[in-house]
Amino acid sequence: MIANPNEIPITDNHIHIDPLNGHGPVKTAKLFYNAGGRVMIIPNKPSWSSGSEFNFKEGMDLGIKYVEEINQSTGVKAFPICGVHPAEYSRLLRAGRSFDESYDLMTKALDYGAYLVNENKTIAIGEIGRPHYEVSEEELKYQNLIMKYGMELAKDVQCPVQLHTESATEDEFREFALLADEVGLKREKVIKHFSGAYINEDENFGLTPSLIASKDVIKKAIKKGNNFLMETDFLDDKTRPGAVLGPKTVPKRTLDFIRKGILTEEDAFQIHERNVQRVYNIEI
Ligand SMILES: [Zn+2]
Repeated sequence: MIANPNEIPITDNHIHIDPLNGHGPVKTAKLFYNAGGRVMIIPNKPSWSSGSEFNFKEGMDLGIKYVEEINQSTGVKAFPICGVHPAEYSRLLRAGRSFDESYDLMTKALDYGAYLVNENKTIAIGEIGRPHYEVSEEELKYQNLIMKYGMELAKDVQCPVQLHTESATEDEFREFALLADEVGLKREKVIKHFSGAYINEDENFGLTPSLIASKDVIKKAIKKGNNFLMETDFLDDKTRPGAVLGPKTVPKRTLDFIRKGILTEEDAFQIHERNVQRVYNIEI
C-alpha cells in the first residue's frame, strides 16, 4: 500500500534525531517516510544528549550532519535548525556559572546559530526561549533576555525562530508578538513550538503556531482554519518512550484525517507545503 499516493509534502516541523540514545537519522527518516512523511524540520538536541555538555557548537554541527545523512540516504527532505535550548541556561547555573557568564555562553552560541543561517547551512534559529518549568525571578529575567537576543539575530539574518516556552495561552502569544515587534521581527516568523490549537489571529496574535499532532488538537484546530504547522517533538530517545509523539504521527494523522473527511487535501497542502514554504522561505 502506498501511504501517500498524492505526494503531499507532509512535514514534521519539530522532530529530533539522536543516534546515541535512539534510532538515529536514517532509521527515523525511513519510519517517517514509510508512513507517508516527506519533510522533516530538525532542531539540534541539547548538548548533554551527545555527551559533551555545553559544547553548543558541536551540538549544532551534529544536527546539520544528521540532516545531510537523511538527505543522502532517504526519500525525506530534511532541513536543520540550530539553537540553544533554555534548559541549557539552567544547567549552566547549576554547574556553578554566574548569570552573566552563562548569558555570554548562550548568546555566543546563538551567534553561531545565526552564522549558520547566513551560510545557508540552516533555515531558522531554534529551539530557543524560556523554560517550561518554574525558575527564579532572576533566572527568568536572563532567559527572557536570551530569547530576545535570539529574536534580534533572526531579524538580522532574516529567518524564523522556533520558540520553546511554558505552555502558551493568548497572553503568552501576545507577549511574544510584542517582543517580535520590539526587535522588528515579523510576527509570522515567530513559530511557537508545541502549541495548542491557537489558530485565529485574536488567539495567536499573528505568530505561527506549530501544533502538536494529537487527535484532539488537530481536530479542534481545523475547525478554525489551516494556518498552522504540525509537529511531534519526537525526541529519538529510547529511555523516554511515550514522552512525546512517535515519528510516524504527523503523516499518519494527516492521512487518516483526510480519509475520514476531517481534513481536506487542500488543507493538507496548505499546512504542509504552502505554510512551510512561506514561513521558512524555502522550496520543498
Ligand atoms: Zn524540541
